[in-house]
Amino acid sequence: MVLFFRLGDFYEMFDEDAREISKLLNLTLTHRVKEDMCGIPYHAAKNYIKRLLDYGKKIAICEQFVDPDSPNKLQERKVVQIYSPATVVDEEYLDMLSSSYILALSVDKRGVHYAWSDISTGEFYIKNSKIEDLASEITTISPKEILISDDTYFSNKSLRREIDSFRCVITKLPKWSFSIKEGKKEIEKQFSPSALRLFSIDDKDPILLPIGALLGYISQMAKSSLPQLRAIERIDDKRFLMLNDAAIRNLEIVNPLFPDRGSDSTLFWAINKTLTPGGQRHLKHALLHPLQDQDEINRRLDWIEYLTLNRSELDRVRSFLKGSGDLERLGSKCAMMRLVPRDMVAISDTISSLLSILSENQKYLSLLGEISVDLDQIAELALMLSRAINRECTNINNEGTIILKGFDDELDRLREIKDSGSLLLKEYLERIKEECGIPQIRLGENRVIGPYLELSKSLSDRAPSYFICRQTLVGSERYTTEELERLSANIASAGDDASSREREIYRLIANECFRIKDEIDKAGKIVSRLDVIASLASIAIEMNYTRPTLIPEGEIEIVSGRHPVVERHMGSFVPNSFSSSRSRFTLITGPNMAGKSTYLRQIALISLLAHVGSFVPAEKAAIPLMDKIFCRVGASDNLSRGESTFLVEMSESAQILRGASERSLVIMDEIGRGTSTQDGMSIAYAIENYLMKLRPITLFATHYHELTLLDTSNIQLLHMAVLEEKGSVSFLRKAVEGSASSSYGIFVARIAGLPREVVLEASKFQKSHFADYSSFDSGQGDLFINDDEGKDTYIVDRLNDFDLENSTPLDAFLFLSELKKNL
Ligand code: ADP
Repeated sequence: MVLFFRLGDFYEMFDEDAREISKLLNLTLTHRVKEDMCGIPYHAAKNYIKRLLDYGKKIAICEQFVDPDSPNKLQERKVVQIYSPATVVDEEYLDMLSSSYILALSVDKRGVHYAWSDISTGEFYIKNSKIEDLASEITTISPKEILISDDTYFSNKSLRREIDSFRCVITKLPKWSFSIKEGKKEIEKQFSPSALRLFSIDDKDPILLPIGALLGYISQMAKSSLPQLRAIERIDDKRFLMLNDAAIRNLEIVNPLFPDRGSDSTLFWAINKTLTPGGQRHLKHALLHPLQDQDEINRRLDWIEYLTLNRSELDRVRSFLKGSGDLERLGSKCAMMRLVPRDMVAISDTISSLLSILSENQKYLSLLGEISVDLDQIAELALMLSRAINRECTNINNEGTIILKGFDDELDRLREIKDSGSLLLKEYLERIKEECGIPQIRLGENRVIGPYLELSKSLSDRAPSYFICRQTLVGSERYTTEELERLSANIASAGDDASSREREIYRLIANECFRIKDEIDKAGKIVSRLDVIASLASIAIEMNYTRPTLIPEGEIEIVSGRHPVVERHMGSFVPNSFSSSRSRFTLITGPNMAGKSTYLRQIALISLLAHVGSFVPAEKAAIPLMDKIFCRVGASDNLSRGESTFLVEMSESAQILRGASERSLVIMDEIGRGTSTQDGMSIAYAIENYLMKLRPITLFATHYHELTLLDTSNIQLLHMAVLEEKGSVSFLRKAVEGSASSSYGIFVARIAGLPREVVLEASKFQKSHFADYSSFDSGQGDLFINDDEGKDTYIVDRLNDFDLENSTPLDAFLFLSELKKNL
């Protein structure tokens, strides 16, 4: 944690902090006595805090409390706030588009126990899993910060390696903060004495360990109570289809596999049409939590179908969403009493438009489903806010401009007195001029003496006796009178009264928002759901998706399916069908670059989207309900854990073989690649056999063509079609029956630019040493060896000799035509 220590107008950092942070933020490092220091102006702190949060740092703000009576005394200072990446709630620090989860976990013989929360929205979840699902669970939650007991962290090496591999802040807490006793204490303090019963948590349930640690930690970080946390929701495993962590990563569902290459490779990127921050968060959540319940999926599909068939309705909903505020996060701000006027305007506007959407079409009321929001209450609130809050007012400190005229009679009266003050003073001045017979008297006002009457030195001896002198200047005297004092006191007190009345009204309104914060939050959930549905309907229309049929059990039947991400990048995509009805195990061969991975992922993504309740990129799709989708694809990015590619490959395979069932989908790409050919092929063969016994629907892509020569009677053999023509090869991207005739590795080496000599040598070597390969390899070497070598050399030489720099376009054209003639 970095300490921002307030000194006058600066936050200073010292020693270790100063050395580290000056480098990170590019600040000047200074020295005082023996200490290193660096500082930032306090008014610019937000900017720096945000950057440090992005670096994954925590920041403690230590403020000074100046005693106005003795400003020179030693001043009191204390830590007033702690920012950490997962506990900030202020919009300026939050990434509005993704959830900000903080996760506590504990491990015992029964498995792993998780509790996580986003305190900016008030969500709080708990869950248990088997230890082998740890990585999948953390990947699904994708927390910004993980809390773990230091004891577990340091004593369990494999767990430590697993956790360290996640890109987030890891906080080690003392062992005692993870205990049943702490859990019970914290839960009762946060919710109610009967909270355990309320959330159906047994008083010996090990889930209390992470709950206690999480609640204790976040209330300590927030330095305030956490009224926005209202309930604990247990995530039910049976409700959602499970994705293993490799599937979440390799299918690039919400995060790209290689973050530095941008996020346009993700499924979320390809289908996201949401218009609100809440909608984005919900869509990401939905993609990571595909459903298992057929009715629930069909309800979503019905909605999408309705909106795709009623375009004007879809447009209406989307135009409402465009102007919507983030009611879920605003609901939390209500709970924390941190609303600013702008927030109130957003609440009022969003609720009003939501109500008009709901009332114009009764169908939407069914959307409310289990979200039973009290529409009357939020309607009343929206009306009150629209009458009370001035939408031009952006700053809570702009007193006098927050509450609109006409909302409160008393406030209007006080404001009138205050505003008429200058008029009253002017009237008084005219009166006094007449009374004294001195038309030169002037009226002025300053901070020290308030309003005053002024006479030049030459006229001052004519001042009447009731003029009380207040200030003597070089050329004039300034006076007050009893009446002027009274008048100005009245005006000032009306101003003060108006301000305090305005503050009181604001407080009452904030209290009212606080009172129905849950309803505001629920209304926010409805907005987000509407956004997700409208987004799925929009992408279905734009990309021509169709409604999938979910069947309780059976086989996948996809007609002309497409890969949702690749098709958005390519001008034209070659659709491919797939059926698992002939065999549950499909072996796919084909050279590199032929499109195997794309085909495999496309089937996984279509199955996933169907379970999310989305339309899918295909002409037709029937998808059986699945319990898990597993993926084991290509090179992994786990190398940072210090494990070899092969070890990762095997441990991911082990996870699949232990977890897959007849209701699962398994995607395996290039298994056994990370070791010798003999080992790899043998392992691939054994895994293939094991999976055939387990009977999940499996797509198994391999470059070991030998596997297709073994007994394949129970296997569906597919390969990616390749066209050999005139000494060249083109990939048709079409999945067809049978096995590939060659791996075309040497051909790919040639197009990648290996020197010609090397390519020819490889072809010759293959021909002479692997003669038996020719039984199923049409002899790709021939593609090159049969070329007319003399011609090739001639053309290469001519090209090398051609002076491009000093040629005109016409020269180049003539040269090209000569080359062609020779060829
Ligand atoms: P492999 O796994 O066989 O090496 P990939 O699946 O990585 O091949 O595909 C190679 C390239 O072909 C990718 O750039 C991909 O975008 C493109 N591609 C794959 N399938 C199709 C298709 N059906 N239509 C158009 N392009 C495709």
